[in-house]
Amino acid sequence: MKKLIILFAILLACSPVSQDEASKTFVTIGTGGVTGVYYPTGGAISRMLNKKAKEYGIKATVESTAGSVYNINAVLSGDLEFGVAQSDRQFQAYNGLAEWEGKGPQKDLRAVFSIHPESITLIASAASGVSKVSDLKGKRVNIGNPGSGQLQNSKDVLEAAGVALKDIHAEQVKAVEAPGLLQDEKIDAFFYTVGHPAGNIKEATSGRIKVNIVPISGAGIDKLLLKYSYYAGSTIPKEFYPNATNAGDVQSIGVKATFVASNNLDEKIVYAITKEVFENLEEFKKLHPAYSVLTHENMLQGLSAPIHKGALKYYREAGLVKFIDPELIK
Ligand code: GLU
Repeated sequence: MKKLIILFAILLACSPVSQDEASKTFVTIGTGGVTGVYYPTGGAISRMLNKKAKEYGIKATVESTAGSVYNINAVLSGDLEFGVAQSDRQFQAYNGLAEWEGKGPQKDLRAVFSIHPESITLIASAASGVSKVSDLKGKRVNIGNPGSGQLQNSKDVLEAAGVALKDIHAEQVKAVEAPGLLQDEKIDAFFYTVGHPAGNIKEATSGRIKVNIVPISGAGIDKLLLKYSYYAGSTIPKEFYPNATNAGDVQSIGVKATFVASNNLDEKIVYAITKEVFENLEEFKKLHPAYSVLTHENMLQGLSAPIHKGALKYYREAGLVKFIDPELIK
């Protein structure tokens, strides 16, 4: 019996499956919290690539992370192969702004493509009486965890609305924890830059206490839109959150989720992932309602780092270069 087991183990070790696995290149995609949209986005992209594992010899997995800033840094350090990151953070990293001010421009950062639009989303308990950003004064507000995209967005929005950080009780916890804290009345409001519909916002609006989505609008916000071209007006559809106390859609501002990698990442890997997502776009769009607006053209807009050479190879083959800002072709 023992001999048989050993023989079986040897056979298994020599089987073509294990050799296949051994010769595969493993890549990891950095996403965000599990109740956001980055996490299912990483899942959708990895499944698309893994369907062709035999052809490409690549196996993709997904990691839940702190968000955009973490993902950009991890991609640059080689800890992750790909990351999902907000378009504004891509711009800041490439140009050495915000969290990268001390480190300088991150010239190895490369754009692969844009994905879904994201809105800066401010959620408040009805009891807090917050119906506009300036009402946050004196309130307990989660402005976002370090490493997230929303941390800088909430600072920008507060400043634009004339609210200093010292005017609020600012928390910096992960978005995944915020709905629970709101429902337990431990915070009055939270910011989350996210695509819609998001599980996180469903959770926040469907609990015991009544919650509303606060518009991000007004003269200060209009000035912010003029100052930073990476912000654009957006709308959060009420239909996604029927339990929110809002009467209709909510006005906000937003950015785009983008897919990034390092210049040092193998061209073949980036080519494969780009090709699979672009050639199966209709199938991809069915995987999340936030992708419904995607087109080949708009997936090449909102980028500020140069296009990765592997992605560019595909865009050239597919005749899509006409949609790319020539400045990004280096
Ligand atoms: N925009 C958020 C961030 O950059 C993540 C949103 C999500 O996970 O969908 O941290």
